[in-house]
Amino acid sequence: MTKKKEAKKSGLLYERKNFFKEAPQSEHEEAFKYAKGFKTFLDECKTVRETVAWTEKVLKKHKFTTLDAKAAKDKVYTIFRGKTMAMAILGSEPLSNGCNIVGAHIDTPRIYLKQNPLYEDGPSGMLCGRTHYYGGIKKYQWVSTPLSLHGVVIKANGEIVDISIGEKDDDPVFVIPDLLPHLARKEQYSKSLGDAIDASRLNVVFGGMHDLDKDEKHSLKLYCVKLLNERYGIDENDFISAELELVPAGKARDAGFDGSMVLGYGQDDRICAYTSLTALLANLNAKPKRTMIVYFSDKEEVGSQGNTGAQSVFLQDFVASLLRHKGESDSSTNLRRTIMNSMVLSADVSAAVNPNYPGVHELQNATLFNHGIALSKFTGSGGKSGCNDANAEFVAKVIRIFNQAGVYWQMAELGKVDEGGGGTIAYILANQGAEVIDCGVGLMGMHSLYELCSKADLYNTFKGYKAFLVNN
Ligand code: MN
Ligand code: MN
Repeated sequence: MTKKKEAKKSGLLYERKNFFKEAPQSEHEEAFKYAKGFKTFLDECKTVRETVAWTEKVLKKHKFTTLDAKAAKDKVYTIFRGKTMAMAILGSEPLSNGCNIVGAHIDTPRIYLKQNPLYEDGPSGMLCGRTHYYGGIKKYQWVSTPLSLHGVVIKANGEIVDISIGEKDDDPVFVIPDLLPHLARKEQYSKSLGDAIDASRLNVVFGGMHDLDKDEKHSLKLYCVKLLNERYGIDENDFISAELELVPAGKARDAGFDGSMVLGYGQDDRICAYTSLTALLANLNAKPKRTMIVYFSDKEEVGSQGNTGAQSVFLQDFVASLLRHKGESDSSTNLRRTIMNSMVLSADVSAAVNPNYPGVHELQNATLFNHGIALSKFTGSGGKSGCNDANAEFVAKVIRIFNQAGVYWQMAELGKVDEGGGGTIAYILANQGAEVIDCGVGLMGMHSLYELCSKADLYNTFKGYKAFLVNN
């Protein structure tokens, strides 16, 4: 036996394991099979609202009811304002002993249409739309790429019109045209990457045909608005209140010669939403002692505030409703105790080592593709500023749960100390007294139009969440 093999066999040293090297073929096949469902989910859930609606459909199929339904039993969910939701399978123990919670965020970086977006551009003679970006995007990525338009329009009579243009094969798509390299010397090349494309230049082209029945003034705008009116019954006034988002058009794809990866938009953090939802559903017949909760929050990419963000009272209210549903006191003391006794996985992505930029990581503590679900004891920036720092006892407990379930896992750190930083919803739930650790999939190209994940990590994250939720 070589020295290396001997050291490994002794079990005295930490060594993360590569799923594709060490797991049996049958597990590889399971991972590939699981990824198919994930790609469909990414295709059908391009926005927060679409994710909530899709998830509700799946829950209903599995006999979940809303928590306030008369028929509500042990599989329940609540949706709030169409943008945040929580779902639970009730355990046999009192809720005040604590729950097992997996919380992901379902908002993603994107580009909104402004409230009064349409304008006729003089120099180009085109109809365009003004935009406002949401979350941490690199603006240069959003130009010269096909975009689809999703969202809701609320008509004057209160009627809600769902919009989705650009996903079907025969739909038109939209584009924010970039400047040709031939003429970009002063406008772009002389500037820094962050400044080269100004937010005011992220205007989308909507059309160029005129309404021939009208005089020249506004006939450009009128032609497109008339089309929208025929198709959706809306007019320009309805844009004022609407929430319309531009997102990358098209489907998630397998990536690589070996097809071992998934490339697709919105994986931060819908990859953790999908894995936590399917983990809950895989525990349908588990008859757990502790109540299992999966929570989808909104607004994480802009600070988690607002009535649908993780800083809102929604999750606490959901737990209070569960207490009442189980016949327990929902007093503030009991609610507090329930949350303080709870264990939470803050299900969010981390940054995997990118072959083009290994230097931003300290490799010994960085996430690597194919080595399983990534646990981040802390996030934040600088000297752990603004972070949740999971307690050693809890970190050890989660590792124990993963090891018992044969889950491939690794410790993760976002980047080198002082290289940058980022946050999640972990600290918010930890502020309420729960034990919380960040735990999810390592991505390459996070926040880009097309984020990349490994099917090995996707599958092991599902397995990890499943084992955590059902753990007593
Ligand atoms: Mn995230
Ligand atoms: Mn993010």
